[in-house]
Order: sequence, then C-alpha cells, then structure tokens
Amino acid sequence: MAKDKKFSPVNMKYFSTILMRFLLCISLCLWAHQALSQENRSLPYPQLLKEYENLTKQYSWCKLIPYGKTDCGLPLQLFVISRNGIFDPARLHELGYTIVFINNGIHPGEPDGMDASLDFARQTLNDNDKSPLIKKLVFCILPAFNIDGTLRRNNFSRVNQNGPEEYGFRGNDRNLDLNRDFMKMDSQNTLSLISILRKWNPDVFIDTHVSDGADYQYTMTLISTQHDKMNHLTGSFIKKTFTPEIFESMKKKKDAISPYVETFHDSEIPDSGLTAFMETPRFVSGYLSLFNCFAFISESHMLKPFDQRKASTLRIIQSICEISYKHSDEIRELRKRALDADLAASSFYYNWKLDESQKEMISFNGYKAIFEKSAITTHDRLRYDRSQPYTKEIPFYDHFMATDSLPIPKFIYLPQAWENIGRMLEVNHIRITRVREDSSVSAQQFYIEDMKTVSNPYEGHYLHYDIKKRTTTNTILMRKGDFIIDTRQEGIRFIMEALVPDANDSYFAWGFFDSILQQKEWFSAYIFEDLAKQILAENVELNKSYHEWLLTHTDEDSYSQLYYIYSHSKYFEKSYRLFPCGFIYYEL
Ligand SMILES: [Zn+2]
Repeated sequence: MAKDKKFSPVNMKYFSTILMRFLLCISLCLWAHQALSQENRSLPYPQLLKEYENLTKQYSWCKLIPYGKTDCGLPLQLFVISRNGIFDPARLHELGYTIVFINNGIHPGEPDGMDASLDFARQTLNDNDKSPLIKKLVFCILPAFNIDGTLRRNNFSRVNQNGPEEYGFRGNDRNLDLNRDFMKMDSQNTLSLISILRKWNPDVFIDTHVSDGADYQYTMTLISTQHDKMNHLTGSFIKKTFTPEIFESMKKKKDAISPYVETFHDSEIPDSGLTAFMETPRFVSGYLSLFNCFAFISESHMLKPFDQRKASTLRIIQSICEISYKHSDEIRELRKRALDADLAASSFYYNWKLDESQKEMISFNGYKAIFEKSAITTHDRLRYDRSQPYTKEIPFYDHFMATDSLPIPKFIYLPQAWENIGRMLEVNHIRITRVREDSSVSAQQFYIEDMKTVSNPYEGHYLHYDIKKRTTTNTILMRKGDFIIDTRQEGIRFIMEALVPDANDSYFAWGFFDSILQQKEWFSAYIFEDLAKQILAENVELNKSYHEWLLTHTDEDSYSQLYYIYSHSKYFEKSYRLFPCGFIYYEL
C-alpha cells in the first residue's frame, strides 16, 4: 500500500514549516489588527469611568465626585485633580488656585476628548511633582457629559467621520443636543452641570469636539469664546494674549492649528475667508462667558484618523493648561476686574451680528477645491484634492457688534405666578428676594410687538426670533411673595440675557412665557358695531387713525375692521403680549 505522500516524514517537515509560517502570519495579522483597532478605539463609558476610579485608588490627590442626575438615571461624575488634596471649590478659589475645567462628550459622536482627557489625567498624576502646572492649577474633568448618548454606541451616526470604530450618539435620552441646552435646561444633565459649574466657577474651560465641514490640512481647529461679547477686559485678553499663545504653543509642538473653519457667507469652501463662531448663551461656552470664564472649544478634524485627533486633542488641552499656568494670576485678576466692571456697567449690549467691515488676514493651509460634474446628482459636486495642498492668506472675520442695548435696571420684578422662571434663575445661583408686603412700583415693561417662530420644534421648543418689543412705563401692583431680582450680582449678564425678552436666548425666546401671546377675551361683532361707532365719535385721534388704516384695508372682513377699533379701545386686555417682568430703575 503506497504511503500517503502527505504523511511522509519529509512532507511532514515541509508541512510543519508552512503551518508555522501560516500561523506566524495569522498572529502578525491579528496583532497588527489589534494594534490598529486599539488605535481606533474609544473607551466605552463604563470602562472609562473604571479607569478614573483606578486612578483615585492609586493617587490620593484626585477624586471622582458624583453630582446630580442625568436623563439616563446615572449621576454626572466629576474627576478632580488637586495636588494639595483640597476639593472644596470655594476654598481653592480663596487660596488662589486657577480652575481649569475640561468637558467631554457633550456630543458623544465626537469622543476624542473623552480618551484624551483620561491620558491627560494619567500623565498629570504620573508626573507627580515634575509638572509645575499642579502648583497653581486645579483640574476638573467631566469624563462624559451626555452619558445617555455615550451609552448608545454605534458606528453609523457620524457618516463622514474617520473613526473610532464605535462612538456614541449626539442626542441624549430626550433627543436633545446638550450644547443648545444651557439657557432652557431641559435635561437633567444640564441642570446637574450648571450646578457643578456655578459651584466650581471655572476660570478656564475647554469643551472638546470633532468638526464637520470642509477638508484642510490641520488636525486641530479652535474656537475661542467670541471676545466682543465678553467684558472688554477678558475679551481683549482672550483675543490678544490667550488665543495667540495657544496657536504659538501648538505650532511649537509641530501641530499648527487654525481657527475653526466656519466659512464666510455660507461659502462651501474656506478660500473666501473664515468667520468666528458666535456662541450665544445656549452653548456651554457662551453660557460660561457670561461669568467671564475663558472658554475654548477644541474641534479636531473629522477626516483625520482617530489616534491622530486624540493626540492633537491631548496636545491642545496641555497647551491651554500651560498658558493658564503662565497667566494664572492675571486670569483670576482679570475675572475679578471684569466682574467689577460688569457690576458698574450702565448698559447691557445684546444680539450680536458679524461686523463684515473688520477682518484680518491669516495664513491657511488648505487643499485645492474642485467643482466637477456629479455622477449621481444633476449638479456639480465639490471635491478637495489632497495632492494640491496650499498655504495662502485668507480673511478672518473675528468681530461682532451688538445690534441692541438697554439701560440695566437696578431691580427686575417678576410676579410669583412665574415660579418656574424663579426656579430656573435659582439653579443658576441668582439671588432672589420676595416682596414683603403688597405695594406698588413704577417700572418699565415691554409689549411683544412682533416676532417670528420656527415652524418645526427646535431642541424641543418653538423658538421665537427677530423679536420686536415696545417699551411702556406702568405702575405695577406687587403682591407679597412676588420676586425681586437685584441685578447687581455675579450673574448680572445672565439675568439680562434671560429676562430681556428680545435677547435671542431669553426665556421668552425659548417659549417659557408663551401664555402671554394668547388673547383671552373677544367681542360679538353685531353688538360691538354700535359701541365702536360711539368709541370713534368720542375719540378723534382713533377716528382719524382708523380711517387712514381703512384706506389700505378695505378688503378685510368686517370683524377685522371692528377689531382695529376694539384693539385700540379701553376694552382691549392690557395683559395681551405684555411681558410680565418690570424693570425698576430706582432704589427700592
Ligand atoms: Zn460637537
């Protein structure tokens, strides 16, 4: 019986060699794959938290502190690194520490900062006393703010993003974008974070993101909180010192950065220029700038690989911390002086628009944009040609101007019927007193003359915009228990943004006062007709304005024509569209 060739000793040896090579090849592939997937892996939230817990077991000078709830039922967790072992924010401020707060996972599909912050924490703790930063800085790291979204891991919802292999979802469990929630506070997450932020009162804040939009050479882009809307002292420092030094520091680390790529006039490509990003108080950074915090938003570029983005996010966190250390005394001093200036200010400036008359030229490292016929749609498509990189000067529009202003009242009156508004103010640490006994006060009030409203809900609200108000002076009868808000307190700018009804993130704009927009009483035309005739006979002015108005409204039905007279008569309800706050300009 012929031996089976395959099992001859010679062939066995040959076979073993092949097998060994094959196995080696497989293990190399697996190792390479694992190494690659490690590089492309963002830690799931439970594991991330575990890593922070492990750090608290290794080092006594860090702590993981649970604060409040989130919409998914888990508490927000704040990781604090404080070399002197003190974790009381008021005491730390008293001792002159500068508090740097790093917020992650506000958009869980953009997880770079979640992993980079853990690396930053490990490095800082491992360095022990080698790093000078810990002598003056205290670090607060929120491992993830939108925990709910972080737990909804997938690899589809960021269609254009280059990794990691899994990430969270932008919306939280109420499908809210938490970076639009800082005035309306719909989510438990935001309520908890605001309470942390007001308690810790960070001097410097970093919010980590990943960009969308154009293609260009940079891995990292940066939004510094818009400086014109800040107090001029802090605004000038962030524009002229803090931001340029971050750019310089990143350049030295061979990771040159660009301002966030927000293109000018909705141009698709950056060539025609960049505009600064205006983050109003609905954004966490815009909210914090009301308290003169130096806020930054890191935006790594979605088309760069995850590990490269993560490394760049770590570098910019380090750079911001190094500059915070270098200027720590100045930062705290400027914040104090800015608050004093806010408290002494006579006017409140609000609703900002881009000042197109002011620009500066910046050097930008982009890729040539090519428009070519689309193979799918009936239009041209945009393609960036990475084989044609360029560096050229482009305009950067970094100035905004206020379109509205108002004298700041000494007090703002709010009827106790708006208890919910009082509670929202208190969450923001606004001090409110109660009227002790029934009394009257002369106050400025506002009628909502006109506004537009979004046709689809925006972040859970029918947001109003382009609000026009008419000012009136009224004698208000205040009841015992009504609210009085002294504007001269730390949250002065927050109070004004919330309670000036035409400010674009005001509580009115977000729909919290919508019941004033509905008329409660009407008339029956067939009876009112006779009264209307009498009203016109007794009121020469109204008679004249009615007949002038009628010239251009002859086509309107009789009810609408009578309504003109009704709405200008004493029978019309005064509370219709009357914003209930009273602005009081004298001492009480
Ligand atoms: Zn984002």
